[in-house]
Amino acid sequence: MNDHYPFVNTPLPYPFDAMEPYIDARTMELHHNKHLQTYVDNLNKALKNYPALHGLSLEELILCPALIPTGIRTAVSRNAGGVYNHRFFFLGLSRAGSSSLPPDSPLGQAVLAAFGSLEAFASAMREAALSVFGSGYAWLTADRRGRLSIVTTANQETPLTRQLCPVITLDVWEHAYYLKYQNRRGDYIDAWLHLINWTEAGLRYDKCRHSTR
Ligand code: MN
Repeated sequence: MNDHYPFVNTPLPYPFDAMEPYIDARTMELHHNKHLQTYVDNLNKALKNYPALHGLSLEELILCPALIPTGIRTAVSRNAGGVYNHRFFFLGLSRAGSSSLPPDSPLGQAVLAAFGSLEAFASAMREAALSVFGSGYAWLTADRRGRLSIVTTANQETPLTRQLCPVITLDVWEHAYYLKYQNRRGDYIDAWLHLINWTEAGLRYDKCRHSTR
């Protein structure tokens, strides 16, 4: 993956209909090819005339606002966040279902420690995702000591700027579900709970625990 300017909209690692019936193919296609593409294009547009920034990764662009000239700071922050959050969301989906979190894995143990059970985690995640007012995301994150918590972010903000390491995210912008679920965000959240890629989440969690950030 080209993790610096010019950013590219990497194809999904699965077909658009891979998450049917929980997330429909048309929504996936629009979400990736139109919505995410727009963030990629606008990020590149904002960075175009600033060669000094062309070597920075997405995470660096998000975490180091002081490096970004004030004239493009908002555009870079919003669009880098949009690219980061969407990639994180899409790569965190799997049709294999949520049964694959091994209870004895580090993430499995951490989920039990933080929530008591997988069901309690799901219910807390659901509540958080429902509580997002307007557009945003619900996240499972780890702190420096590997302790899990659920947080929400508005618009395209990320937990990175709160020194939290993301493990799982759910996009609750209306564009993520409106075609199939209209106003029924709760039904979309329930559907998404079938799609958590616990294998990917486990790898991310291991990375969080080994990161020195
Ligand atoms: Mn989205």
